[in-house]
Amino acid sequence: MFKPNDRVGIAVSGGKDSAALIHALCKGFPNVDFVALHINLGIKNYSSHCKIKVEELTRLLDVELHIFDLKEELGFSIDDFKMTFYKRKICSACGTVKRHVLEVLAERANTKILATGHNLDDIVATMLNNFFNGNWTQLVRLKPVLKPLMANQTLKVKPLIKSSENENLLYCLYSDVPFREVNCQNAHVEKRTKDREMLEYLSKDNPGFKYQMLKNFFKLIPILEEYLEKPKLMKCKFCGFPSLGEICAFCKRVEMVKDTKR
Ligand code: SF4
Ligand SMILES: [Zn+2]
Repeated sequence: MFKPNDRVGIAVSGGKDSAALIHALCKGFPNVDFVALHINLGIKNYSSHCKIKVEELTRLLDVELHIFDLKEELGFSIDDFKMTFYKRKICSACGTVKRHVLEVLAERANTKILATGHNLDDIVATMLNNFFNGNWTQLVRLKPVLKPLMANQTLKVKPLIKSSENENLLYCLYSDVPFREVNCQNAHVEKRTKDREMLEYLSKDNPGFKYQMLKNFFKLIPILEEYLEKPKLMKCKFCGFPSLGEICAFCKRVEMVKDTKR
């Protein structure tokens, strides 16, 4: 995923997974130059609390921190998507915004590697969802090391892909790692919850079930990659990021949310 002396950006939201990730990486790899990347999403009763926790954590670890404030830099917050078509799918819009902004932050922080705190539970649930919906391209993108889509983009790595969310929580609790204590108000009614319930049920008598699924997924990746056609990407005409069409998903959503303010 990275070598000694590399400069590695770590996406830190303030949650237990990314808090465990940055803490473990900084303690385990003192020869790597880590830099924390945080997005202030402007979500009421949530984002300011997350920012405080991230600042506390990076101070504790003595890690450089770069913050992108959506409201200040782009003039909108994730809460503003409530007035758009995305009002019932805010997490989807939020995901698109975060993926784009993390690339911007990585460039500002002068790093070509981006580590995220995706855990075993996240990955297996998303894997199942993509499998049920036949989203093969998205399924392959869940792999632990993802090459850049275009030359100026980051290599994406998921160091905690084999750690469950409970392990990350215990890590934070035992190591006194600060992490957020409030939940985002939008983290509900997601269909993903149903997939998660099913996975919990299947894991009840077999605690290694999710790990087994992940192991088999790793074997499937090369077969899928061979079978799938590489998507034809072009540069978004507004931001220059890789896109399947003339305008990328991020710019389309930004336009939509700005329209509600005109
Ligand atoms: S719960 Fe949804 S809206 Fe809230 S931070 Fe997570 S992805 Fe964004
Ligand atoms: Zn764009």
